[in-house]
Amino acid sequence: MSLSLSAETPDVSADAVDGVWLECIECGETYAPFEDIRYTCDECDGLLEVRYAEPATFSEFEGEGVWRYSAALPLDEGVSIQEGATPLYEVPRLEADVGVEALRIKHEGMNPTGSFKDRGMTVGVAVARELGVDRLACASTGNTSAALAAYGSRGGAEVLVLLPAGKVAAGKVGQAALHDARILEVDGNFDACLDIVRDLADRGEVYLLNSLNPFRLEGQKTIGLEILEAFQADYGTWPDRIVLPVGNAGNTSALYKAFRELVQAGELEPEEVPKLTGVQAEGAAPMVEAIENGADEVRRWEEVETIATAIRIGNPVNAPKALPGIRETGGTAVSVTDEEITDAQRELAAEGVGVEPASAASVAGLRKLREEGVVSADEQVVCLTTGHLLKDPDAAANAGNEPEPVPASTDGVLASLASERSSDQ
Ligand SMILES: *Cc1c(COP(=O)(O)O)cnc(C)c1O
Ligand SMILES: [Zn+2]
Repeated sequence: MSLSLSAETPDVSADAVDGVWLECIECGETYAPFEDIRYTCDECDGLLEVRYAEPATFSEFEGEGVWRYSAALPLDEGVSIQEGATPLYEVPRLEADVGVEALRIKHEGMNPTGSFKDRGMTVGVAVARELGVDRLACASTGNTSAALAAYGSRGGAEVLVLLPAGKVAAGKVGQAALHDARILEVDGNFDACLDIVRDLADRGEVYLLNSLNPFRLEGQKTIGLEILEAFQADYGTWPDRIVLPVGNAGNTSALYKAFRELVQAGELEPEEVPKLTGVQAEGAAPMVEAIENGADEVRRWEEVETIATAIRIGNPVNAPKALPGIRETGGTAVSVTDEEITDAQRELAAEGVGVEPASAASVAGLRKLREEGVVSADEQVVCLTTGHLLKDPDAAANAGNEPEPVPASTDGVLASLASERSSDQ
Protein backbone atom coordinates (compact mmCIF):
# COMPACT_ATOMS: atom_id res chain seq x y z
CA MET A 1 0.00 0.00 0.00
CA SER A 2 1.48 3.32 -1.07
CA LEU A 3 0.13 5.27 1.89
CA SER A 4 1.33 2.93 4.64
CA LEU A 5 2.84 4.02 7.95
CA SER A 6 6.49 3.34 7.37
CA ALA A 7 9.74 4.89 8.53
CA GLU A 8 11.10 4.81 4.99
CA THR A 9 11.61 8.23 3.49
CA PRO A 10 10.44 8.68 -0.10
CA ASP A 11 12.86 8.46 -3.03
CA VAL A 12 13.57 12.01 -4.08
CA SER A 13 11.97 12.71 -7.45
CA ALA A 14 13.90 14.27 -10.34
CA ASP A 15 11.02 16.77 -10.44
CA ALA A 16 11.78 18.03 -6.91
CA VAL A 17 12.37 21.75 -6.45
CA ASP A 18 14.07 22.59 -3.14
CA GLY A 19 13.23 19.09 -1.94
CA VAL A 20 9.48 19.42 -2.70
CA TRP A 21 7.47 17.69 -5.43
CA LEU A 22 3.99 16.38 -6.22
CA GLU A 23 3.38 12.64 -6.43
CA CYS A 24 0.38 10.60 -7.56
CA ILE A 25 -0.80 8.29 -4.78
CA GLU A 26 -2.00 5.70 -7.31
CA CYS A 27 0.74 5.37 -9.96
CA GLY A 28 3.68 7.22 -8.40
CA GLU A 29 4.09 9.71 -11.28
CA THR A 30 5.85 12.85 -10.03
CA TYR A 31 5.60 16.52 -10.98
CA ALA A 32 7.43 19.77 -10.17
CA PRO A 33 5.42 21.60 -7.50
CA PHE A 34 4.71 25.09 -8.91
CA GLU A 35 5.23 24.72 -12.64
CA ASP A 36 1.90 23.80 -14.19
CA ILE A 37 -1.57 23.82 -12.73
CA ARG A 38 -2.89 20.33 -12.05
CA TYR A 39 -5.05 18.87 -9.32
CA THR A 40 -4.87 15.18 -10.22
CA CYS A 41 -2.45 12.89 -12.06
CA ASP A 42 -2.10 13.40 -15.83
CA GLU A 43 -1.50 9.67 -16.26
CA CYS A 44 -4.24 8.06 -14.18
CA ASP A 45 -6.35 10.88 -12.66
CA GLY A 46 -5.26 9.75 -9.17
CA LEU A 47 -5.00 12.16 -6.24
CA LEU A 48 -1.74 14.06 -5.83
CA GLU A 49 0.25 14.56 -2.67
CA VAL A 50 3.02 17.01 -1.77
CA ARG A 51 6.19 15.09 -0.88
CA TYR A 52 9.33 16.25 0.93
CA ALA A 53 12.89 14.98 0.60
CA GLU A 54 13.36 15.61 4.31
CA PRO A 55 10.22 15.38 6.44
CA ALA A 56 10.33 17.97 9.25
CA THR A 57 11.15 17.26 12.89
CA PHE A 58 9.63 18.92 15.97
CA SER A 59 12.86 20.82 16.68
CA GLU A 60 12.42 22.75 13.42
CA PHE A 61 9.11 24.30 14.48
CA GLU A 62 9.18 27.86 15.82
CA GLY A 63 6.74 30.74 16.15
CA GLU A 64 2.94 30.48 16.47
CA GLY A 65 0.07 29.35 14.29
CA VAL A 66 0.11 27.54 10.97
CA TRP A 67 3.44 29.09 9.89
CA ARG A 68 5.15 27.75 12.97
CA TYR A 69 5.21 24.57 10.89
CA SER A 70 6.74 26.05 7.72
CA ALA A 71 9.44 23.33 7.81
CA ALA A 72 6.60 20.88 7.09
CA LEU A 73 4.98 23.10 4.42
CA PRO A 74 5.80 23.71 0.75
CA LEU A 75 6.31 27.49 1.23
CA ASP A 76 7.99 29.58 3.94
CA GLU A 77 5.14 32.04 4.28
CA GLY A 78 1.53 32.41 3.20
CA VAL A 79 -1.31 34.86 2.84
CA SER A 80 -1.95 34.97 6.58
CA ILE A 81 -4.62 36.30 8.96
CA GLN A 82 -3.05 34.61 12.02
CA GLU A 83 -4.71 31.22 11.56
CA GLY A 84 -4.05 28.20 13.75
CA ALA A 85 -2.85 28.09 17.38
CA THR A 86 -6.39 27.09 18.38
CA PRO A 87 -7.22 25.97 21.93
CA LEU A 88 -7.19 22.38 23.17
CA TYR A 89 -9.91 22.73 25.79
CA GLU A 90 -10.40 20.59 28.88
CA VAL A 91 -14.02 19.44 29.29
CA PRO A 92 -13.98 17.66 32.67
CA ARG A 93 -17.71 16.96 32.98
CA LEU A 94 -18.03 15.67 29.44
CA GLU A 95 -14.86 13.60 29.95
CA ALA A 96 -16.35 11.95 33.04
CA ASP A 97 -19.75 11.52 31.40
CA VAL A 98 -18.38 9.89 28.24
CA GLY A 99 -16.08 7.81 30.43
CA VAL A 100 -12.57 8.07 29.02
CA GLU A 101 -9.31 8.74 30.84
CA ALA A 102 -8.76 12.05 29.07
CA LEU A 103 -10.87 14.08 26.67
CA ARG A 104 -9.74 17.31 25.05
CA ILE A 105 -11.53 19.43 22.46
CA LYS A 106 -9.43 20.94 19.68
CA HIS A 107 -11.68 23.86 18.77
CA GLU A 108 -11.01 24.85 15.19
CA GLY A 109 -13.91 27.28 15.36
CA MET A 110 -11.39 29.66 16.94
CA ASN A 111 -9.69 30.34 13.59
CA PRO A 112 -10.04 33.78 11.90
CA THR A 113 -13.12 32.90 9.83
CA GLY A 114 -14.38 30.36 12.37
CA SER A 115 -13.34 27.03 10.85
CA PHE A 116 -10.23 24.95 10.13
CA LYS A 117 -10.57 25.80 6.43
CA ASP A 118 -8.37 28.85 7.14
CA ARG A 119 -5.36 26.58 7.67
CA GLY A 120 -5.67 25.22 4.16
CA MET A 121 -6.38 28.58 2.57
CA THR A 122 -3.36 30.39 4.02
CA VAL A 123 -1.26 27.87 2.06
CA GLY A 124 -3.56 27.40 -0.95
CA VAL A 125 -3.97 31.10 -1.72
CA ALA A 126 -0.20 31.62 -1.40
CA VAL A 127 0.36 28.78 -3.89
CA ALA A 128 -2.15 30.40 -6.25
CA ARG A 129 -0.06 33.57 -6.06
CA GLU A 130 3.10 31.53 -6.74
CA LEU A 131 1.39 30.07 -9.84
CA GLY A 132 0.35 33.54 -10.99
CA VAL A 133 -3.41 32.85 -11.03
CA ASP A 134 -5.84 35.50 -9.82
CA ARG A 135 -9.31 33.92 -10.16
CA LEU A 136 -9.94 31.46 -7.36
CA ALA A 137 -12.97 29.21 -6.91
CA CYS A 138 -14.46 26.50 -4.74
CA ALA A 139 -17.60 24.48 -4.26
CA SER A 140 -18.62 24.66 -0.66
CA THR A 141 -21.05 23.60 2.02
CA GLY A 142 -20.21 27.06 3.44
CA ASN A 143 -16.98 27.20 5.41
CA THR A 144 -14.64 26.74 2.48
CA SER A 145 -16.36 29.65 0.74
CA ALA A 146 -16.04 31.86 3.84
CA ALA A 147 -12.33 31.06 4.17
CA LEU A 148 -11.58 31.42 0.46
CA ALA A 149 -13.46 34.73 0.32
CA ALA A 150 -11.43 36.11 3.23
CA TYR A 151 -8.02 34.79 2.16
CA GLY A 152 -8.61 35.51 -1.53
CA SER A 153 -9.56 39.10 -0.72
CA ARG A 154 -6.53 39.48 1.47
CA GLY A 155 -4.37 38.10 -1.33
CA GLY A 156 -5.95 40.47 -3.87
CA ALA A 157 -7.64 37.78 -5.99
CA GLU A 158 -11.11 37.43 -7.49
CA VAL A 159 -13.17 34.73 -5.73
CA LEU A 160 -16.07 32.64 -7.07
CA VAL A 161 -17.97 30.28 -4.78
CA LEU A 162 -20.54 27.68 -5.81
CA LEU A 163 -23.01 26.85 -3.06
CA PRO A 164 -25.91 24.40 -2.94
CA ALA A 165 -28.97 26.71 -2.91
CA GLY A 166 -30.79 26.76 0.43
CA LYS A 167 -28.36 24.35 2.11
CA VAL A 168 -25.73 26.69 3.51
CA ALA A 169 -25.88 28.06 7.06
CA ALA A 170 -26.55 31.79 7.36
CA GLY A 171 -23.26 32.83 8.99
CA LYS A 172 -21.22 31.29 6.20
CA VAL A 173 -23.13 32.96 3.35
CA GLY A 174 -22.80 36.26 5.19
CA GLN A 175 -19.04 35.85 5.39
CA ALA A 176 -18.66 34.98 1.70
CA ALA A 177 -20.82 38.00 0.84
CA LEU A 178 -19.00 40.55 2.99
CA HIS A 179 -15.55 39.29 2.02
CA ASP A 180 -16.64 40.04 -1.53
CA ALA A 181 -16.90 36.63 -3.19
CA ARG A 182 -19.13 36.24 -6.21
CA ILE A 183 -21.72 33.78 -4.84
CA LEU A 184 -23.26 31.34 -7.34
CA GLU A 185 -26.19 29.42 -5.85
CA VAL A 186 -26.51 26.10 -7.63
CA ASP A 187 -29.78 24.24 -7.89
CA GLY A 188 -28.17 20.99 -6.71
CA ASN A 189 -26.23 19.52 -3.80
CA PHE A 190 -22.57 20.04 -2.83
CA ASP A 191 -21.35 17.15 -4.96
CA ALA A 192 -22.97 18.71 -8.05
CA CYS A 193 -21.29 22.05 -7.20
CA LEU A 194 -17.92 20.31 -7.01
CA ASP A 195 -18.45 18.55 -10.35
CA ILE A 196 -19.06 21.95 -11.97
CA VAL A 197 -16.15 23.77 -10.36
CA ARG A 198 -13.80 20.89 -11.29
CA ASP A 199 -14.97 21.32 -14.88
CA LEU A 200 -14.34 25.07 -14.73
CA ALA A 201 -10.86 24.42 -13.35
CA ASP A 202 -10.09 21.82 -16.05
CA ARG A 203 -11.07 24.40 -18.67
CA GLY A 204 -8.64 26.90 -17.14
CA GLU A 205 -11.38 29.33 -16.02
CA VAL A 206 -10.52 29.24 -12.32
CA TYR A 207 -7.95 27.94 -9.85
CA LEU A 208 -9.57 25.27 -7.70
CA LEU A 209 -9.26 25.55 -3.93
CA ASN A 210 -11.32 22.61 -2.75
CA SER A 211 -9.52 19.96 -0.70
CA LEU A 212 -8.82 18.07 -3.93
CA ASN A 213 -6.05 20.69 -4.17
CA PRO A 214 -3.12 18.95 -2.47
CA PHE A 215 -1.65 22.21 -1.13
CA ARG A 216 -4.69 22.89 1.04
CA LEU A 217 -4.17 19.64 2.91
CA GLU A 218 -0.60 20.70 3.72
CA GLY A 219 -1.97 23.60 5.76
CA GLN A 220 -4.50 21.36 7.45
CA LYS A 221 -1.72 19.00 8.58
CA THR A 222 -0.90 21.61 11.21
CA ILE A 223 -4.01 20.61 13.19
CA GLY A 224 -2.34 17.27 13.86
CA LEU A 225 1.02 18.86 14.67
CA GLU A 226 -0.58 21.30 17.13
CA ILE A 227 -2.55 18.52 18.82
CA LEU A 228 0.56 16.38 19.31
CA GLU A 229 2.66 19.24 20.68
CA ALA A 230 -0.03 20.50 23.06
CA PHE A 231 -1.01 17.03 24.25
CA GLN A 232 2.61 16.08 24.87
CA ALA A 233 3.13 19.30 26.86
CA ASP A 234 0.12 18.58 29.11
CA TYR A 235 0.21 14.78 29.49
CA GLY A 236 3.73 13.75 28.49
CA THR A 237 2.27 11.31 25.95
CA TRP A 238 0.59 11.33 22.54
CA PRO A 239 -3.21 10.96 22.42
CA ASP A 240 -4.48 7.42 21.73
CA ARG A 241 -7.20 8.59 19.40
CA ILE A 242 -8.38 11.61 17.42
CA VAL A 243 -12.08 11.73 16.55
CA LEU A 244 -13.19 14.04 13.76
CA PRO A 245 -16.18 14.79 11.55
CA VAL A 246 -15.80 13.64 7.94
CA GLY A 247 -17.16 15.38 4.85
CA ASN A 248 -14.76 15.25 1.91
CA ALA A 249 -12.26 13.52 4.22
CA GLY A 250 -9.63 16.20 3.64
CA ASN A 251 -8.85 16.58 7.31
CA THR A 252 -8.66 12.84 7.86
CA SER A 253 -6.16 12.68 4.98
CA ALA A 254 -4.21 15.70 6.23
CA LEU A 255 -3.86 14.43 9.81
CA TYR A 256 -2.75 11.04 8.54
CA LYS A 257 -0.17 12.71 6.30
CA ALA A 258 1.15 14.77 9.22
CA PHE A 259 1.63 11.58 11.24
CA ARG A 260 3.17 9.62 8.35
CA GLU A 261 5.74 12.34 7.87
CA LEU A 262 6.57 12.35 11.60
CA VAL A 263 7.08 8.58 11.40
CA GLN A 264 9.39 9.10 8.40
CA ALA A 265 11.26 11.79 10.34
CA GLY A 266 11.76 9.34 13.23
CA GLU A 267 9.63 11.39 15.64
CA LEU A 268 6.86 8.80 16.12
CA GLU A 269 6.74 5.02 16.05
CA PRO A 270 4.01 3.71 13.73
CA GLU A 271 2.17 2.20 16.72
CA GLU A 272 2.24 5.57 18.53
CA VAL A 273 0.16 7.28 15.85
CA PRO A 274 -3.29 8.25 17.18
CA LYS A 275 -6.16 6.14 15.88
CA LEU A 276 -7.98 8.27 13.33
CA THR A 277 -11.69 7.91 13.92
CA GLY A 278 -14.12 9.46 11.47
CA VAL A 279 -17.70 10.42 12.19
CA GLN A 280 -20.44 11.04 9.64
CA ALA A 281 -24.12 11.84 9.87
CA GLU A 282 -26.39 8.84 9.19
CA GLY A 283 -27.88 10.64 6.20
CA ALA A 284 -24.47 11.18 4.57
CA ALA A 285 -22.23 8.28 5.54
CA PRO A 286 -20.47 6.83 2.46
CA MET A 287 -17.10 6.61 4.28
CA VAL A 288 -18.63 4.71 7.18
CA GLU A 289 -20.22 2.33 4.69
CA ALA A 290 -16.83 1.71 3.03
CA ILE A 291 -15.06 1.09 6.37
CA GLU A 292 -17.81 -1.25 7.58
CA ASN A 293 -17.72 -3.21 4.30
CA GLY A 294 -13.93 -3.29 4.11
CA ALA A 295 -14.27 -1.70 0.66
CA ASP A 296 -11.36 -0.02 -1.14
CA GLU A 297 -13.66 2.43 -2.85
CA VAL A 298 -16.42 4.62 -1.58
CA ARG A 299 -19.82 4.41 -3.23
CA ARG A 300 -21.20 7.85 -4.11
CA TRP A 301 -24.47 8.60 -2.29
CA GLU A 302 -26.73 10.64 -4.59
CA GLU A 303 -29.16 11.68 -1.87
CA VAL A 304 -27.75 13.10 1.35
CA GLU A 305 -29.44 14.88 4.23
CA THR A 306 -28.42 16.02 7.71
CA ILE A 307 -28.68 19.00 10.02
CA ALA A 308 -24.85 19.04 9.92
CA THR A 309 -24.70 20.85 6.58
CA ALA A 310 -20.88 21.09 6.61
CA ILE A 311 -20.67 17.29 6.20
CA ARG A 312 -23.68 16.89 3.93
CA ILE A 313 -21.50 15.22 1.29
CA GLY A 314 -22.15 12.02 -0.65
CA ASN A 315 -18.93 11.71 -2.65
CA PRO A 316 -15.90 12.29 -0.40
CA VAL A 317 -13.16 13.15 -2.91
CA ASN A 318 -10.27 12.42 -0.56
CA ALA A 319 -11.45 8.92 0.33
CA PRO A 320 -8.43 7.24 -1.36
CA LYS A 321 -6.16 9.14 1.04
CA ALA A 322 -8.40 8.88 4.09
CA LEU A 323 -9.35 5.18 4.03
CA PRO A 324 -5.70 4.07 4.47
CA GLY A 325 -5.39 6.68 7.23
CA ILE A 326 -8.24 5.19 9.22
CA ARG A 327 -7.14 1.59 8.60
CA GLU A 328 -3.38 1.96 9.09
CA THR A 329 -3.81 3.78 12.40
CA GLY A 330 -6.25 1.19 13.75
CA GLY A 331 -9.08 3.69 13.78
CA THR A 332 -12.65 3.30 12.62
CA ALA A 333 -15.66 5.23 11.32
CA VAL A 334 -19.12 5.58 12.78
CA SER A 335 -22.34 7.37 11.90
CA VAL A 336 -24.60 9.30 14.25
CA THR A 337 -28.15 10.64 14.02
CA ASP A 338 -29.03 14.32 13.82
CA GLU A 339 -30.51 14.00 17.30
CA GLU A 340 -27.23 12.64 18.69
CA ILE A 341 -25.42 15.51 16.98
CA THR A 342 -27.72 18.09 18.58
CA ASP A 343 -27.35 16.46 22.01
CA ALA A 344 -23.56 16.63 21.69
CA GLN A 345 -23.80 20.26 20.58
CA ARG A 346 -25.66 21.02 23.84
CA GLU A 347 -23.15 19.02 25.91
CA LEU A 348 -20.25 20.99 24.48
CA ALA A 349 -22.16 24.24 24.98
CA ALA A 350 -22.64 23.29 28.66
CA GLU A 351 -18.83 23.32 28.94
CA GLY A 352 -18.72 26.75 27.29
CA VAL A 353 -17.62 25.42 23.92
CA GLY A 354 -19.87 26.69 21.13
CA VAL A 355 -19.76 24.67 17.91
CA GLU A 356 -21.78 24.21 14.76
CA PRO A 357 -23.61 20.87 14.26
CA ALA A 358 -21.00 19.11 12.08
CA SER A 359 -18.39 19.73 14.76
CA ALA A 360 -20.50 18.12 17.45
CA ALA A 361 -20.59 14.93 15.39
CA SER A 362 -17.10 14.13 16.73
CA VAL A 363 -18.31 14.06 20.32
CA ALA A 364 -21.51 12.21 19.39
CA GLY A 365 -19.41 9.59 17.61
CA LEU A 366 -17.02 9.21 20.53
CA ARG A 367 -19.93 8.69 22.91
CA LYS A 368 -21.40 6.02 20.66
CA LEU A 369 -18.10 4.17 20.24
CA ARG A 370 -17.50 4.31 23.99
CA GLU A 371 -20.96 2.85 24.65
CA GLU A 372 -20.30 0.11 22.11
CA GLY A 373 -16.97 -0.67 23.80
CA VAL A 374 -14.95 0.15 20.69
CA VAL A 375 -13.31 2.97 22.65
CA SER A 376 -12.10 1.81 26.06
CA ALA A 377 -12.20 3.64 29.40
CA ASP A 378 -8.42 4.04 29.59
CA GLU A 379 -8.11 5.96 26.32
CA GLN A 380 -6.87 9.51 25.98
CA VAL A 381 -8.89 11.14 23.24
CA VAL A 382 -8.98 14.41 21.32
CA CYS A 383 -12.21 15.39 19.55
CA LEU A 384 -11.91 17.88 16.75
CA THR A 385 -14.61 20.54 16.58
CA THR A 386 -14.33 22.03 13.14
CA GLY A 387 -16.50 25.17 13.13
CA HIS A 388 -17.85 27.89 15.43
CA LEU A 389 -21.41 28.03 16.82
CA LEU A 390 -22.06 31.38 15.11
CA LYS A 391 -21.62 29.77 11.70
CA ASP A 392 -25.09 28.31 12.00
CA PRO A 393 -27.18 30.58 14.23
CA ASP A 394 -30.43 28.85 13.23
CA ALA A 395 -29.20 25.46 14.40
CA ALA A 396 -28.01 27.02 17.66
CA ALA A 397 -31.35 28.73 18.27
CA ASN A 398 -33.25 25.52 17.50
CA ALA A 399 -31.06 23.43 19.82
CA GLY A 400 -31.08 25.99 22.64
CA ASN A 401 -33.57 27.78 24.85
CA GLU A 402 -36.53 29.84 23.63
CA PRO A 403 -36.45 33.56 24.47
CA GLU A 404 -39.26 34.43 26.93
CA PRO A 405 -41.31 37.60 26.37
CA VAL A 406 -41.56 39.66 29.60
CA PRO A 407 -43.10 43.03 30.51
CA ALA A 408 -40.81 46.09 30.56
CA SER A 409 -40.73 46.35 34.36
CA THR A 410 -38.71 44.78 37.17
CA ASP A 411 -41.88 43.45 38.83
CA GLY A 412 -42.97 41.94 35.55
CA VAL A 413 -39.59 40.26 35.07
CA LEU A 414 -39.66 38.96 38.68
CA ALA A 415 -43.17 37.60 38.14
CA SER A 416 -42.02 35.78 35.02
CA LEU A 417 -38.98 34.37 36.85
CA ALA A 418 -41.27 33.07 39.60
CA SER A 419 -43.40 31.16 37.15
CA GLU A 420 -42.42 27.98 35.33
CA ARG A 421 -40.01 28.41 32.46
CA SER A 422 -42.25 28.65 29.42
CA SER A 423 -40.05 26.30 27.48
CA ASP A 424 -36.89 24.34 27.83
CA GLN A 425 -34.78 22.08 25.69
C1 LIG B 1 -15.31 21.29 5.88
C2 LIG B 1 -15.89 20.92 7.19
C3 LIG B 1 -15.94 19.59 7.62
C4 LIG B 1 -15.52 18.45 6.76
O1 LIG B 1 -14.14 18.35 6.63
P1 LIG B 1 -13.48 17.39 5.53
O2 LIG B 1 -12.06 17.72 5.59
O3 LIG B 1 -14.12 17.75 4.22
O4 LIG B 1 -13.80 15.99 5.91
C5 LIG B 1 -16.43 19.33 8.87
N1 LIG B 1 -16.89 20.31 9.67
C6 LIG B 1 -16.87 21.60 9.28
C7 LIG B 1 -17.41 22.63 10.21
C8 LIG B 1 -16.37 21.94 8.04
O5 LIG B 1 -16.38 23.22 7.67
ZN1 LIG C 1 -1.16 8.59 -11.45
